[in-house]
Amino acid sequence: MKNFHKNFSAVEIRRSSTTMKNKCGKCKEGKTKARVQTMGSGKCSKCNKASVIALRYAGIEFCQSHFTRFFEARVMRTVREFSMLARKDRIAVALSGGKDSTVMLHLLKKIGESFPMELFAITIDEGIAGYREFSLKTAVEECKKLGVPLTVVSFRSEFGQTLDSLLKKRGEARACSYCGVMRRYLLNKVARRMGADKIAIGHNSDDVAQTVMMNYMRNEPERLARFGPVAGAAEDELFVTRIKPLFLTPEREVAAYAMMKGIEIKNIGCPYAKSAFRQHVRKILNETEEKYPASKLRIVRAFLAQKKLMQEGAKKRIEKHGKPARCKECGEPSSNREERCALCLLLSEK
Ligand code: SF4
Ligand code: ZN
Repeated sequence: MKNFHKNFSAVEIRRSSTTMKNKCGKCKEGKTKARVQTMGSGKCSKCNKASVIALRYAGIEFCQSHFTRFFEARVMRTVREFSMLARKDRIAVALSGGKDSTVMLHLLKKIGESFPMELFAITIDEGIAGYREFSLKTAVEECKKLGVPLTVVSFRSEFGQTLDSLLKKRGEARACSYCGVMRRYLLNKVARRMGADKIAIGHNSDDVAQTVMMNYMRNEPERLARFGPVAGAAEDELFVTRIKPLFLTPEREVAAYAMMKGIEIKNIGCPYAKSAFRQHVRKILNETEEKYPASKLRIVRAFLAQKKLMQEGAKKRIEKHGKPARCKECGEPSSNREERCALCLLLSEK
């Protein structure tokens, strides 16, 4: 936590605001100009107290109390906008122990105080030495603190090997492809086994913007058609619906909220992350955002607008080709329409 504070102090959050535009503090991304205020003033746009964070994309600053309210209200709006929760839902929270999933767990717990739903958490232990054990500890502690039951499942018990040992044989270049496919597969299987109606995933809007751009750069429109704030079950009932309450929340604000709420996050990166294409895209988008604030959120909003059009196309495809087949090898649904699912194909590669 000490390092985290050092690297990301509230003062730094505010100082990083240089060029501000005059936009409304109430709307999501500053669509209306309800409030005109000199930005970079160091004052909360709502109450005039000293601000602790500036949101350049919206041209507003907040004191701690108004920021946390704004943050929580936006997550609530996202949940409502995409109808993510239904009464009596059993929600499996995909909890890595990192900042995003931990903050999401806290928010869902809070929502659960006034909305009838059941929460439990699933943590996947991929078997990454020097990394996963730390976030695993956070996951266990946070669940204990919040009284949320936690199930930990490992690659070793399910696939007979850890990610580390798999990558020793296959090389690290595609670490995240193996890890991502295996994790999604396992999470879906375990959540389904545990009777979950939905799986909550802690993807923030930075992750979303990266995924959108990566799919464009790889020319994978079908994957993009399946991706969204709510995804999964429409394709096959064996896929548990995946919801993303942080879909419109920037990563930096998730970190700030965690810090302000005293949520302990150990800031240890995955040793394989450096090899990821995602890191490259992340860097490009962060540089773009620095020069042109709001770019990342605009990518997310543009994607959502396009998604409506793409969904029509997906419906027609299902009508024409039918629903995805079940994998011949493991029986799980195969969204790639091959005889074997993405995991079995990947693991059978020489
Ligand atoms: Fe897995 Fe890649 Fe994430 Fe590491 S960075 S946990 S290898 S997906
Ligand atoms: Zn305020």
